Amino acid sequence: MMNRRNWLRTAGLAGLAGAAYRGPLPLSASPLGSADQPVRPLGLPRARNIIFFVVDGTGFEDLATANYYSTKVLNRPLLFREIMGRGASGSMLTHSLASVVTDSAAATSAWSTGRKIVNGALSMLPDGRSLTTILELAREAGKATGLVTTTRMTHATPAGWIARVASRDSEDEIAEQYLEFSPEVLLGGGAGHFLAESRQDGRDLLGDFRAKGYDVLRTREDLLASNADRLLGLFAPGTRHLPYEIDRRFQDAPSPSLAEIARKGIQVLEGARNGFVLQVEAGRIDHANHDNDPAGMVWDWMAADEALAVLVEFVDRTPETLLILAADHDTGGGTVYGYGSGYQGSTPAFRTLERQRISLEGFNALMGRDPSLSQIRDGTTKFLGFTPTPDQSERLQRVFRREVRFGHPTSHLGVLNSIHAVLSEIPGGDPDRPNLTFSTGRHTAGLVPIGLYGAGVPRTALGVVDNTEPFGWMAEALGTTFRNPEMTEDEAWRILSEPGVQAEPSFRHPQDD
Ligand code: ZN
Ligand code: MG
Ligand code: ZN
Repeated sequence: MMNRRNWLRTAGLAGLAGAAYRGPLPLSASPLGSADQPVRPLGLPRARNIIFFVVDGTGFEDLATANYYSTKVLNRPLLFREIMGRGASGSMLTHSLASVVTDSAAATSAWSTGRKIVNGALSMLPDGRSLTTILELAREAGKATGLVTTTRMTHATPAGWIARVASRDSEDEIAEQYLEFSPEVLLGGGAGHFLAESRQDGRDLLGDFRAKGYDVLRTREDLLASNADRLLGLFAPGTRHLPYEIDRRFQDAPSPSLAEIARKGIQVLEGARNGFVLQVEAGRIDHANHDNDPAGMVWDWMAADEALAVLVEFVDRTPETLLILAADHDTGGGTVYGYGSGYQGSTPAFRTLERQRISLEGFNALMGRDPSLSQIRDGTTKFLGFTPTPDQSERLQRVFRREVRFGHPTSHLGVLNSIHAVLSEIPGGDPDRPNLTFSTGRHTAGLVPIGLYGAGVPRTALGVVDNTEPFGWMAEALGTTFRNPEMTEDEAWRILSEPGVQAEPSFRHPQDD
């Protein structure tokens, strides 16, 4: 077992000099109760296949926003909402072991292992004990496995299904653990942690995967052409994620869509003799929300819904398949607010979201570091769909020059957050821009949607469940009674408050969480 103090250092939990953390909570004030709730069985029948579909960083407000964009702008129902209504559904609490606000690592570990852990780690307790993931149990039951995501392959949400590491940042190590486990399907972005030239140890992991019989795919064309039964698809270079859907769709950013990689994953896995367990993640809704990018968020939601259609089509034609829909936490606290007299301007304002044709990330790259005022005015008009006031153009120019940041302090005052903060003010009169704004650039503690659908799923209300409960449902469907060891919040705090250890997770810039 890893030495506890080393673990905390590796995990990035060791003290930051002068960090804001002011010592552990008194144990009597622990707000979260014990490690998890008792698992409430749903009486699910055994499933041959399980598909876990996760939308990262999106709560009920975003679900409503996505629903209205789909119905009021694109004139099609939001499938996610329909499926929530057809099976068992409810809302989910997302707190991690020692924080009311989770990160993606602790959240994915909660449902892949059934246990709360500390932010920043993957499927490992704060004392260094590794937990058994549901994918390992599926493998023991003879099932094939797969991970599909729009983030880089080694990012936290997919990684927590296989990797056990003290820090989600140990992505070279996560890639090695993927090789060791060898799931049949790995499709996502970020080739960097697999390549000899960019790995710390210089190891050629792609070569190792090929030696194990994998077809290694790097482009959409590779994906569509492959007929192999073991796939490693890395569709973005370095540490890059797949592009935002808005950029893929309107700016020709080269990439397969989430629906395309999900379909390929299903094609490979449906041939498995004893069924499969597959995770599919729409991973960049979270990023757009960190950026406070309204149309970026909405378009990644639309891409998620199109991928869900592929999954539902499979579930509907394949008996004994359980589909779980989940979000891991909310990000951004985005809200569509009432506009105009009697709020009658709300829908027209909302519909202007359609005019944004590039992510704020892409817009920032186009503008560069010193655009002229006319470049800013023309670029905003062309790509975001409305003309800024002269005052807004001037403030944006100072943002692009890195002279000033705007917005709520917890938006991190990043360049992208600042662009949104400046442009989100509707000047008055007829709305010419979206009435969608954000309360933060960080994760929030808000409730998120959870749903189950498929053969044998009772049409029932789940109420408010805990994010460890999906593990119990998947275990039930696999026919296993396995339970991981657990830790209480008090025990976790005792470890986090050991002398010399400060418990402030030292995350990277949260726009990348
Ligand atoms: Zn997340
Ligand atoms: Mg994620
Ligand atoms: Zn995040």
